[in-house]
Amino acid sequence: MEFIYKLKNIFFDILFPSICLNCKINLTIDEKNKKVCEKCIDSIIIYSSFFCPKCKNRVPTQEKTCHKEIKFLLAPVTDYQNPVIKNIIRFFKYKKWKSLMVIITPLINNYLDNLSQDLKSFIIIPIPLHKDRFKERGFNQSEYIAKVISEKTKAEINTGNLKRIKATKTQADSKNLEERVKNIKNCFALENPEEIKNKNILLVDDVFTSGSTMTEAVKILKQSGAKKIIAFVLAKA
Ligand SMILES: [Zn+2]
Ligand SMILES: [Zn+2]
Repeated sequence: MEFIYKLKNIFFDILFPSICLNCKINLTIDEKNKKVCEKCIDSIIIYSSFFCPKCKNRVPTQEKTCHKEIKFLLAPVTDYQNPVIKNIIRFFKYKKWKSLMVIITPLINNYLDNLSQDLKSFIIIPIPLHKDRFKERGFNQSEYIAKVISEKTKAEINTGNLKRIKATKTQADSKNLEERVKNIKNCFALENPEEIKNKNILLVDDVFTSGSTMTEAVKILKQSGAKKIIAFVLAKA
């Protein structure tokens, strides 16, 4: 039996040689589990502040955004321009390589350390997928990110309250900003709005691009009396 297992492993290594998913160089034994080489991981720059969701400028304190009409702060771990994080998110989300959380977890924790903000009073809400999309993908990537934040900050996760009631196209399928906004409009609903009243909310998603998804979620949370809202994402475009 053991021989067959060994043979299986050798066969696997030939079929799927351990190369970095970004730069394709051969991985060392230590790097093998991570699926990304050390050099690529090191190229990911972790932010240390909040950002304005509109102009994407840094926001020095938790209290103020430069664009007053925007009702939330953006908290991105890193920049989506970096191809390494782009590839990690792509493989995680679409190829379902959940083991990539080994890399993603320390990135999130480093950012939270850099922020040095007490987020314990926040309720963490992962942006939900529509039930059809969830069925198709089998998991919600935002919930994985939320779990890491919750473990680090001790803030509680609330799933099931915010619901996606409209099946929307993926961001990549919608051609322009106008279409994205239209596409996403009124796609969320709250099961129990009372739970949100006067609470600080940490919304969680993987990527912040046009911001149309977050803006739509913020809208319904604000309508239900949410206090402070922070949009936490792995990467901002
Ligand atoms: Zn690499
Ligand atoms: Zn601004």
